[in-house]
Amino acid sequence: MQDLTHYIDGDHVQGGSGRFSDVYNPATGEVQARAPLASRAEIDHAVEIAQAAQPKWAATNPQRRARVMMEFVRLLNRDMDKLAEALSREHGKTLPDAKGDVQRGLEVVEFCVGAPHLLKGEYTDGAGPGIDMYSMRQPLGVSAGITPFNFPAMIPMWMFAPAIACGNAFILKPSERAPSVPLMLAELMLEAGLPKGILQVVNGDKEAVDAILEHEGIASIGFVGSTPIAEYIYGKGCAHGKRVQCFGGAKNHMIVMPDADMEQAADALVGAGYGAAGERCMAISVAVPVGEETADRLIAALKPRIESLKVGPYTSGDDVDFGPVVTAAAKENILNLVQSGVDAGAELVVDGRDFRLQGYEEGFFVGAHLFDRVTPDMDIYRKEIFGPVLSTVRAASYEEALKLAMDHEMGNGTAIFTRDGDAARDFANRVNVGMVGINVPIPVPLAYHSFGGWKKSAFGDLNQHGTDSFKFYTKTKTVTARWPSGIKDGGEFNFKPMD
Ligand code: NAD
Repeated sequence: MQDLTHYIDGDHVQGGSGRFSDVYNPATGEVQARAPLASRAEIDHAVEIAQAAQPKWAATNPQRRARVMMEFVRLLNRDMDKLAEALSREHGKTLPDAKGDVQRGLEVVEFCVGAPHLLKGEYTDGAGPGIDMYSMRQPLGVSAGITPFNFPAMIPMWMFAPAIACGNAFILKPSERAPSVPLMLAELMLEAGLPKGILQVVNGDKEAVDAILEHEGIASIGFVGSTPIAEYIYGKGCAHGKRVQCFGGAKNHMIVMPDADMEQAADALVGAGYGAAGERCMAISVAVPVGEETADRLIAALKPRIESLKVGPYTSGDDVDFGPVVTAAAKENILNLVQSGVDAGAELVVDGRDFRLQGYEEGFFVGAHLFDRVTPDMDIYRKEIFGPVLSTVRAASYEEALKLAMDHEMGNGTAIFTRDGDAARDFANRVNVGMVGINVPIPVPLAYHSFGGWKKSAFGDLNQHGTDSFKFYTKTKTVTARWPSGIKDGGEFNFKPMD
């Protein structure tokens, strides 16, 4: 078993609190490592080092900072296999999916190579008589990020790449369930040329998070995780005068219209509902077919696809559709929610409760489940299950389907499958959800757009990545300048007649 570390001042540092958290291999159920849980004093130490290193980094011209990002992209590609393997080993997702996790982070690093352009201010020549006005975007100082287990590479990079490109120092507190990849990313940033102390990884739990929230030396906090913790961090962080953005849980609906290509919709639902064992904040967890006939056709198309999904460890290679869930507790929570759905009267069309994988009996595997005739009062509809469970809610009309997505307290992503451009336009315009897919089941925006949900899926006003992230990680300063008139002529060399 490996003892993991923190990464402070450009080096691996043993934990000093005496507290640790077990890190599992979800496929085997074995504890493979221990992550140290930082004390308040360890957070203080990391912030002190970051504060000392940051001014010089902020004064490094943006092009040089961008070059570090450029080299970091090269190193991420060089180490892609190694990163993906470490990620799958702690998270459980398949290797191609783990590479996708690294890749979607890498793309935000690529976007940050444009920092010199993105950090340019505005200028008005002659805003008044002899007056010019201009703005600059300056870094905040030390920023912190608190990240979830389900994208151990992508989400840390979505935060630290723009923060650092803008000239901040960054303290990352990754999930204690998947801490290895964030440590590897910090090493690669240093290898790419980042000065020591600009990116630090401090492992920990609530104690470390509270220390971050209360620390006077930290100017901003980014959080991604479950909604209750997002609300807590947003409230407490703001109360301590920090700039805070928090992204929470989800319950993403996919509306299937009667005119949709049912085979295409079923394929999309299977990938979006069960990929990564449903442990994605953009997973589709609710299918909403419009009309009884559409619902019957959809269920008929889904059932055989779901029954033939292959569940297994990432080490089985391409033969696996999805892996285990992250912990035994997550597995228990999912199975309890499935039971609550059965007890509430939903129809369990595909029952994965007895799923066992030979040779991996201690692993945290959960079979695929499909519910039909789910109603909005049921826990399986109201709560985020975060597992391989798809619920079908039958809607009588398009308006009823739209209302379901609108009335749910979560508003991360949603999708509509249809051949009708008018229905698609109407849906995109009216739905109160942050990211919308039209015949695209997982509409995660690319790096140069921005990512964020609405309602209880996000707290704060700016999104992640895209130009929003450059706004989040900088303060605007606006200068109004009038210069007194001075001597404009130099020496006189010509022989001039007297006037
Ligand atoms: P989580 O809320 O349990 O943990 C997230 C982070 O918060 C971790 O670093 C954890 O150590 C910390 N934390 C946990 N409990 C805490 C407490 N009581 N006080 C302070 N800090 C605490 O989330 P998770 O299980 O790691 O991730 C899954 C959740 O994240 C799901 O709800 C998913 O929808 C959500 N998620 C959202 C997005 C998005 O962009 N909206 C993206 C990915 C995941």
